[in-house]
Amino acid sequence: DPQLNPNYTFDNYIEGDCNRLARSAGYAVAAKPGGTSFNPLMVYGGVGLGKTHLAQAIGNEIKRNMPDKLVIYVSCEKFCQQFVDSLKNNTINDFVNFYQAMDVIIMDDVHNFAGKEKTQDIFFHIFNHLHQSGKQVILTSDKAPKDLAGLEERLLSRFKWGLSADLQIPDLETRIAILKKKMYADGIELPGEVIEYVAHNIDNNVRELEGAMVSLLAQSTLNKKDIDLALAKQMLKNFIKNTSKEISMEYIQKLVCEYFEVPVDMVKSQTRKREIVQARQISMYLSKSHTKSSLKTIGAFFGGRDHSTVIYACQTVEDLIETDKKFKAYVNDIQKKLKMS
Ligand code: ADP
Ligand code: MG
Repeated sequence: DPQLNPNYTFDNYIEGDCNRLARSAGYAVAAKPGGTSFNPLMVYGGVGLGKTHLAQAIGNEIKRNMPDKLVIYVSCEKFCQQFVDSLKNNTINDFVNFYQAMDVIIMDDVHNFAGKEKTQDIFFHIFNHLHQSGKQVILTSDKAPKDLAGLEERLLSRFKWGLSADLQIPDLETRIAILKKKMYADGIELPGEVIEYVAHNIDNNVRELEGAMVSLLAQSTLNKKDIDLALAKQMLKNFIKNTSKEISMEYIQKLVCEYFEVPVDMVKSQTRKREIVQARQISMYLSKSHTKSSLKTIGAFFGGRDHSTVIYACQTVEDLIETDKKFKAYVNDIQKKLKMS
């Protein structure tokens, strides 16, 4: 089946909370096409979240286990075009017979049926024929069936028969896993902090995430040198906005306070409570190392203190980093977050 792309498999479809239901339903359908209550299986979600990949993976998995099954993958758009052509060429019967002979039909992006009443009618009949014969229908869409505008009610009601499962934006951990998989597939290794930087900053679309990675990998072979975080930031300027944002004392204060779960305004207060003092000293230390502010400015910012207080804070933090492993880990963590921004 030339329509199936062998590169889209379950094996390279990373599982996460974002896709667990859709993925496992897809897997069940692939094991028993037409034989589950997930018929049709409708996978829906925004652009670049993995609908086509998953739909193709189902088709490839069926072909792998049951090579004799007739599986067709077709985009809704192409289906519409074929229909128009068959009208023109008087080959409607061939067109319908071709699809009705399938064991599995995978139709991608059915939201594109909107406004195309005649094609919807034809598909309605094909759908009924296949469904009544126990054949499997798999659909993808950018919206849930109930939110699909411009589709005929009777077709929509069919789409709601089986299971609709959505794809969400992957969480950070899943995004990192997707990037790592991609990186290993291409045989190039990038430092962990570069992967984390990309995963942190591209958080709305898997296709863009991969695009950034592809761009980095391509540039790294061109440059024949290892890519570190600074170089990656430079290379990804077009993918990631605001890369050169200056780190401010406000931002440091916010990060540190979030990290230790202390109220932001407390570090500027006179309190000597241990955890507040710690947050204040670390904020001062990071302000000294990550901003161009003078000791005097830093002291003034953190509650009107003088420059010797800042020197003392920095000294204390440096000592603790030397002697206290846990403390050192805290500071490293926060520093990592600072660099990500
Ligand atoms: P959609 O059809 O929803 O617009 P695609 O299926 O084309 O999205 O996915 C965009 C890209 O992201 C593809 O290269 C796909 O392989 C990749 N992708 C999406 N989700 C995953 C995932 N969970 N694991 C691995 N790759 C993924
Ligand atoms: Mg798609």
